[in-house]
Amino acid sequence: MDTLKSWQDRDMLHWLGKEAPRYTSYPSAHHFEALDADTHAGWLGTLTPGQSLGLYVHVPFCEQMCWFCGCNTQITKRSEPVEAYVGNLIAEIAMVGATLGFRPRVHSLHFGGGSPGIVAPDTMARLFDALHEAFDIGAGAEVSIELDPRRLTAEKADAYARLGFNRISLGVQDTQGPVQAAINRIQPVGLIADCMAMLRDRGLDAIGIDLVYGLPKQTAASLEATLADVARLDPHRISAFSYAHVPWVKKHQRLLDESSLPDMRDKVRQYLQIDAGLHAIGYVGIGMDHFAKPGDGLALAAAKGTLRRNFMGYTDMPNDRLIGLGASSISELDQGLAQNIPQATSYETILGRGQLPIVRGWRYRGDDRVRRDVIAGLMCDFTADVGAVAVRHGLPETYFDADIARLGDFVAAGIVTVAGRTVTFDAPLKMLVRSVACIFDRYASGEGGNRYSRVA
Ligand code: SF4
Repeated sequence: MDTLKSWQDRDMLHWLGKEAPRYTSYPSAHHFEALDADTHAGWLGTLTPGQSLGLYVHVPFCEQMCWFCGCNTQITKRSEPVEAYVGNLIAEIAMVGATLGFRPRVHSLHFGGGSPGIVAPDTMARLFDALHEAFDIGAGAEVSIELDPRRLTAEKADAYARLGFNRISLGVQDTQGPVQAAINRIQPVGLIADCMAMLRDRGLDAIGIDLVYGLPKQTAASLEATLADVARLDPHRISAFSYAHVPWVKKHQRLLDESSLPDMRDKVRQYLQIDAGLHAIGYVGIGMDHFAKPGDGLALAAAKGTLRRNFMGYTDMPNDRLIGLGASSISELDQGLAQNIPQATSYETILGRGQLPIVRGWRYRGDDRVRRDVIAGLMCDFTADVGAVAVRHGLPETYFDADIARLGDFVAAGIVTVAGRTVTFDAPLKMLVRSVACIFDRYASGEGGNRYSRVA
């Protein structure tokens, strides 16, 4: 592939092999410190009725482990642990509601996991009752959920339509049998198509598909077949994530046959193949790993320069304030970031004591907010006038001049251009924007390995 060849000639593999945060927050969650529930309660107490916010609800249960999984989840075939967990979620929602003292307006509500589709319809209805009691979730709100196509039933699809869901994200990963067998996730493309038809029949037609590349047994031919299936499935949005092989953190990844994993060069080829394949069938690229139809909200936001990035990826929603609910979820408020305890059992114990389950986070300090805005500009728009961002924060225009000077290697390689103090990323290997953003990260630069995932 010519593009890869020309980028290899410029020694791209040197950068692609390095680690960098994914910048779903700044600073990255790797840097979080101890943070107590009272601090978070104080932050919640400063929210005012004129402000709106997003909600994220985490459900850390799945029925079967996919061997590539990097999420915070646990496996159960029984409904009791899920029911008990939702009871705890409802307790947390009531506690957050009481702390707020009013019902804030919610512009978006997202259920992620794990597999939030594991929650039974009547239990999901109870959860919605609790959410509506604490928050003002109006008809215009985006209400979305990540679903596993293997677990959707007509009863669940009815419930999603009834409860007001209007955006669905389907975990597809790859449609080819050998790849699915290698990752312990068998879901024939016919099953995925049936699932999408079931949702569309109920008016749930804003469907996104998640793909993963860099998986065992994936080849150029298998990816071509997956892309042809995706074209037939015709989703509004597609995300294509690079598989991060970290078996020292996620022990179940040891079950994968490492000898059949594509190497970094193959992964880059696969990324370029997906990028070209999706553009060829009419999708536009959004940020470093999303694609959407041209009329979709994400594509419009990208064109207007209003794309945002949060813990769920790219969004066209405002993301200045987010309340996370459930084990491991992260809230982002004006004062900083606050994370719930990851383990579902400890989450239950802390809630049982009548406390918010916050254990770690980050108080914004120093120049965090201005660096956060520069990094967000690069990650979302691939360009940032860093002098103007500094001035907006009351700093001199020259504030980032030393950082700009450290971009020299990227400029020399043709990855970045600098005009005045406007830094623009322009390379076909979009994942490299993480490395460029890293230059403006006060906490990540110059640290040792195994903190973040590799760029490719
Ligand atoms: S369904 Fe999703 S969260 Fe659950 S194990 Fe598979 S990849 Fe992980």
